[in-house]
Amino acid sequence: LPRDIFPGRANSAGVDLADPATAAALKADLAALDGAVWEAAPTVPAGDAAPAREIRAPHDRNRLVGISRDATPADAALAVARAEAAQPAWNALGGPARAALLDKAADAFERHQDAILSLCQREAGKTVIDAVLELREAVDFLRYYAGEARRLFASDVALPGPTGESNRLRLVGRGVFATIAPWNFPLAIFIGPAAAALAAGNTVVAKPAEQTPLIGALAIRLCHEAGIPDDVIQCLPGDGTVGAALTGQAGIAGVAFTGSTQTARAINRALAGRDGPIAQLVAETGGQNAMLVDSSALPEQVTRDVLASAFQSAGQRCSALRVLYLQDDIADAMLEMIRGGMEALVIGDPEDWATDVGPVIDEESRASLAGHVDRMKQAGRRVWQRELPQACANGTFIPPTIIEIDAIGDLAAEQFGPVLHVARFAADELDEVIDAINGVGYGLTLGLHSRIDATRRKVERRSKVGNLYVNRNQIGAAVESQPFGGEGLSGTGPKAGGPHYVARFATERVTCIDT
Ligand code: GLU
Repeated sequence: LPRDIFPGRANSAGVDLADPATAAALKADLAALDGAVWEAAPTVPAGDAAPAREIRAPHDRNRLVGISRDATPADAALAVARAEAAQPAWNALGGPARAALLDKAADAFERHQDAILSLCQREAGKTVIDAVLELREAVDFLRYYAGEARRLFASDVALPGPTGESNRLRLVGRGVFATIAPWNFPLAIFIGPAAAALAAGNTVVAKPAEQTPLIGALAIRLCHEAGIPDDVIQCLPGDGTVGAALTGQAGIAGVAFTGSTQTARAINRALAGRDGPIAQLVAETGGQNAMLVDSSALPEQVTRDVLASAFQSAGQRCSALRVLYLQDDIADAMLEMIRGGMEALVIGDPEDWATDVGPVIDEESRASLAGHVDRMKQAGRRVWQRELPQACANGTFIPPTIIEIDAIGDLAAEQFGPVLHVARFAADELDEVIDAINGVGYGLTLGLHSRIDATRRKVERRSKVGNLYVNRNQIGAAVESQPFGGEGLSGTGPKAGGPHYVARFATERVTCIDT
């Protein structure tokens, strides 16, 4: 592949919150949507609507954001049947025509920016900056995969052969893809895998996360408004039982899943055990992400990048920093600066634009994180934790927390929230530390702060991670520039937003003609 496969293409500019006029207009638009009550439901219900489930704001459980009428197993069967019937025509449309519709969907997302940002804040508890980044990434995925539809699906590839023989290879959709999305990127990772599947000529039945059905339902309505036919992308809100009903359908040719490693394994088993095609699974799962900081690092830069990697998005990114390894001779001074930075973070209502750290998604998540911190305290670990402001009383919040540990192996599981663990290493222990990080079995992101090239080369050679970030934070992979995804317990690949992603959603056919 050439270095720049789409010369001149650029990711979207997003919203310039620093521009006073833009900011004032956006604030007014968001205020106007404050009381809106949103709805999610199966795109085409098979029978009577399910009872309404209330969706409440994570930062204020007294605020109703909308209701979801969750899908039933009958809805899953009907959606897959409709998607199967629609797939041949969608595939026959060809890459460029599908790309045009994906571009139109991106335009619709941008036109409805206010509704999307409002829902990202109210339903998912995102700060305004995270909401803007979420919309940008969704738009970027749509346009990048549209580019891939044009690049890979516009024409057959001629292959060599002896005189008198013509060989051609073409990519076609596999059939129906089920896409199962996480709540932490309820728009970007809801629409990204679906857009890739559509680009490749598949039809899609999309399940938003149980916690964020309203954003998912809005995204599907906007795809339909943009001209993507109703049966080509459908929505099935609901919990894991809906996901299981969907992946159990014999008509499913592939699944794109983002969520826990445990659920990915369960999907794999379900796919293996049912009738139907041997299904493709694209899974992006968790991480136990570390950052290594040696004594050549720039302390202010480390402080800034640790705070962003560990606490932005309330630590609810699978890329987020969980274990910071500080070289022992700088550890005390470095830790003091990081703790100072942590003290300065604004915790609270994500709809307040001054807020740095909002809520975690729900009570289950809050209780699990709080339990971990308590166990660490009981085990005698040193813990620094911010006080929660009174304004957080009605929501599910975990204050930013730092816990000292000896090594990454002390942790039993990924902690999906604003909880940072810190360990120390001696200069001659770098190899051991990298091996310990590899030994956990995840392989998603790794941060390195070092000014020594030989160290960077060693870390690059020895570590087994999908995304290595040197002298910067380790979150916020940009579409096309940092294709994102891990290995081992972190997922199957290929990388989202990268040049090998869309092809995985297609199958290859070769025609050989003896002339
Ligand atoms: N792509 C996101 C990032 O680089 C993380 C995705 C996730 O949390 O699933 O921060």
